[in-house]
Amino acid sequence: MSSMPPVVTRFAPSPTGRLHVGNIRTALHNWMCARKTGGAFLLRIDDTDAERSREEYVAAIRDDLAWLGLTIDGEARQSQRFDLYERRFAELVAAGRVYRAYESQQELELKRKIQLGRGLPPIYDRAALALTEADHARLAAEGAAPHWRFRLDSDAPIEWTDLIRGPQRFDPATMSDPVVRRADGSWLYLLPSVIDDIDLGITHVVRGEDHVSNTAAQLQMFDALGAEPPTFAHEALLTGSEGKLSKRLGSLGADHFRDAGIEPQAIVALLARLGTSDPVEPVADRAPLLDSFDFARFGRAPARFDEGELAQLNSRIVHQLPFDAVAGRLPAGMDAAAWDAIRPNLETVAGAAAWWQVIEGPVASGVDPEDREFLTAAAAHAETIDWSGDPWHALTGALKEATGRKGRALFLPLRRALTGQDSGPDMAALLPLIGRERAIARLRG
Ligand code: GLU
Repeated sequence: MSSMPPVVTRFAPSPTGRLHVGNIRTALHNWMCARKTGGAFLLRIDDTDAERSREEYVAAIRDDLAWLGLTIDGEARQSQRFDLYERRFAELVAAGRVYRAYESQQELELKRKIQLGRGLPPIYDRAALALTEADHARLAAEGAAPHWRFRLDSDAPIEWTDLIRGPQRFDPATMSDPVVRRADGSWLYLLPSVIDDIDLGITHVVRGEDHVSNTAAQLQMFDALGAEPPTFAHEALLTGSEGKLSKRLGSLGADHFRDAGIEPQAIVALLARLGTSDPVEPVADRAPLLDSFDFARFGRAPARFDEGELAQLNSRIVHQLPFDAVAGRLPAGMDAAAWDAIRPNLETVAGAAAWWQVIEGPVASGVDPEDREFLTAAAAHAETIDWSGDPWHALTGALKEATGRKGRALFLPLRRALTGQDSGPDMAALLPLIGRERAIARLRG
């Protein structure tokens, strides 16, 4: 028996827009990290920024996760947890780990310029730490409201072993004390995230590598709040197919994929393996993806997301989907036999409607006048063959014998007359679905 606590992960989006492919990937990996070991996966809505957060995005995030099949075991909303933040903040105030500062953006900018001009690193000079209580009282009397900085302990390097990036080391002396609370009392991201990770018992923080330097500061916050930090995994970012961070990636949301007929299984199959040493395969089932999921297999180079690859994977997954999985999205009347016949030809499930139309008719006839006589003969044969078995082979066998035609000259005119198309699903599967009456009528033209 292992004595390790069960894994608890969280996906922590800010509801300021739809989830895009990068967020979806982060959500998926958090979900997989939890599910692989029977742990819990939480959704944390980072809505401390009341101005930019929107209720419609909260709803869209929940819908998107549900559509992707990323079931959650609980949800926390930062906007409902301000009492907790206040309490834990008070502890940091009492311990002298946060302090009041008053510099405006312009003043800070000026300080940075001066430091850079002298060849010094542009970090906050901690001038506010020297203020006395009398100074604070004077500033308050002048109407100045302080913001709060977290005082980094610069005695020792900050170190952790990242599950993807390996050993990490930051020198706090090269970092600015981060601002954790604004002058109006509102919270910035860093501290509430740590307070929540402690309170919710998060064991693994899985997020993009754009958070690596935040982690360095946050590790000291865990310590200052008397908590063991979680394990971290920082993932290399996704790039667009053109190889650089693209604006387009940020606009590719679950809604876009759904509208394009992409199945959630395709997104999951791609994003579970993209950037790992395992091949991307059209696996509609999650079990093999969970089996191979391991942060050690993720590379540190940016992973390239290609919509074309997703579309291809999607069509290979559609070819595997059983009728029951898609029945609700098929045209009325379309049954399992029709789905099985049509499925190998589809790029998307929605594409089934066009082939159902081909079965039901009417179809546009694309008959070459030279084939008219041949098709009239075909119609006559269609009246006499046995339709209960394999009518396509019965029909083409009889026609081959009667006319001497074979190959393309035999099959193409039949396919055109019967379906109005030059290519499509296997005729042997399609013809019984078209049925005797309709087939004879179409062959007669
Ligand atoms: N709301 C933060 C973000 O979306 C969460 C980061 C984290 O996972 O801690 O970047």
